[in-house]
Amino acid sequence: MNPHQQSVRQLEQVADLLRDQYQDSTSFDKAIEQLKSPNKIIEGEIEVEMDDGSTKKLKAFRSQHNNARGPYKGGIRFHHHVSKEEIMALSTWMTWKCAVIGIPYGGGKGGVIVDPKKLSPKELQKLSRAYVEFIANYIGPWVDVPAPDVNTTPQIMAWMIDAYEGYLAENKKPLQENPLATFTGKPLGLGGSAGRTEATGLGGFFVFEKLVKKLGLENKQDVTIAIQGFGNVGYWFAYHAHQSGYKVVAVSDSKGGIYVEAGLDPVKTLADKEEKGSLQGKAITNEELLELDVDILVPAALENVITKDNAANIKAKAILELANGPTSPAADQILADKGIVLVPDVLANAGGVTVSYFEWAQNLQGYYWSKEEVISKLQPLMEDAFEKMWQMKERKQVSGRMATYMTAVKRVVDTMLLRGI
Ligand code: NAD
Repeated sequence: MNPHQQSVRQLEQVADLLRDQYQDSTSFDKAIEQLKSPNKIIEGEIEVEMDDGSTKKLKAFRSQHNNARGPYKGGIRFHHHVSKEEIMALSTWMTWKCAVIGIPYGGGKGGVIVDPKKLSPKELQKLSRAYVEFIANYIGPWVDVPAPDVNTTPQIMAWMIDAYEGYLAENKKPLQENPLATFTGKPLGLGGSAGRTEATGLGGFFVFEKLVKKLGLENKQDVTIAIQGFGNVGYWFAYHAHQSGYKVVAVSDSKGGIYVEAGLDPVKTLADKEEKGSLQGKAITNEELLELDVDILVPAALENVITKDNAANIKAKAILELANGPTSPAADQILADKGIVLVPDVLANAGGVTVSYFEWAQNLQGYYWSKEEVISKLQPLMEDAFEKMWQMKERKQVSGRMATYMTAVKRVVDTMLLRGI
């Protein structure tokens, strides 16, 4: 199954579990049918002038899945593996992510098939501007709000805002279109939000704290954690877990991992890595890290790392998915059969999009919040979303992933029904 077919299959499974809650099952089924494909796909070729004077034609997409609950929201990725089916699926998952956390957005996603590592900074800027021209007619603060994703950065968002302002001026569209509120994940100096850098890891930590309580793990210092990935998300999650007194016993990066039985200090580990170029400590492989006998396993690097080949060997009591799509559907079933609790990506890593929502809200009002204020608003949203998922999981006796999707799909369908199908 390609990712789009996978997202449709998931939706059908969720719909089967929700249908009996709706008296008007015809309208319910119509809403589900509509949700199986994006409302709109913008698809075409963009032209980028290379430094040597030649022109490169690149395939570009923007998928707008559903906007019943608010403007489409989702990142733009520059990657040579981008496909239309992947972008469609990712936009669908953004609809569920925004719904489960309860922020007033629908789901969107964009992408360009390109290897950005082969582009010079000048070419990358031209690509970013060309992509904005391609989608300019379809975005805006109340329409569709893009953000960074794989290989796109705050700097790229800054170029995109500049290009969007140029488009508005050229087309005599009012600046009330608010270019700043049309993109999130911007640099702090250009309308970004305090707290965005650590938002995904910290949001995951708030969920983690609720999870350990549900699992009855009373003593923080005895709760062991293994984290795959020590980039932005993995580091900030590790930082907050360590600061709060939990025991981070293993972390890894693309070169491999380290295991420290007594628990490691993420700040020192990062400083050592920056100084020496790799993680310092008792070496383990990424495969070994995933199979460690720890309380909580946190995949925070890549997709599809827990598969049918290793799921049976996972020993953790629970998995907190901070990476997008780290668990394959076949592995999901094996983990559920083993009684391993799973908090899925659309909930666990939603801290990023939640602070993007705060960024948008700040841009719209032209009034900016302190980092403390941002964090104080993030925590209750993450905790409440986890609690709702847990209640659904207990009530319906389903997996954490299914409970999360049920909560999200129900919210979206209910809004669609309120509007009238
Ligand atoms: P990052 O690039 O900062 O870090 C990625 C980490 O993964 C690095 O430590 C890298 O060394 C490691 N890695 C790369 N290849 C690996 C391999 N083969 N085996 C093990 N580790 C490997 O990225 P990030 O922003 O921390 O994102 C991590 C994950 O979280 C991704 O799946 C991303 O989609 C997801 N995510 C990120 C955010 C965000 O706000 N940054 C939001 C939602 C989801």
